[in-house]
Amino acid sequence: MIKGSCLCEAVQYEYKGSFDEVVMCHCNQCKKAQGTPFVTNAPIELANFKLTRGEGALKTFFSSPQKKRVFCGECGSPLYSQRTDMPETIRLRLGTVTEGDIPKPHYEIYCESKSDWFNERSNRQRYEKNK
Ligand SMILES: [Zn+2]
Ligand SMILES: [Zn+2]
Repeated sequence: MIKGSCLCEAVQYEYKGSFDEVVMCHCNQCKKAQGTPFVTNAPIELANFKLTRGEGALKTFFSSPQKKRVFCGECGSPLYSQRTDMPETIRLRLGTVTEGDIPKPHYEIYCESKSDWFNERSNRQRYEKNK
């Protein structure tokens, strides 16, 4: 069982499943949404994800017509993103996980906009745009 919460803990969730794909995204939208050089997220089935607290605190921002970013309206923590054309999958922001195993990242996407100032060596597969 995976558990997690936002910074103020108004929003809490559980996820019944494992993280089969851990992705680092370097796109400019994620960088701004997170305030970090990249975001680490995992696609998971919405059916296995449950908010245990704070559904009313969630806010949504459509960063593009097909993609909404869901965050805590109290503290601003980004929690997940969801595409309107594949709503059964959400991309959980792994920095909000507080309990359970997270594997090392499997690959990186949108390396075309990777932050030059952040240098890290790895053998992960890297894609210029999306995978
Ligand atoms: Zn919060
Ligand atoms: Zn991104």
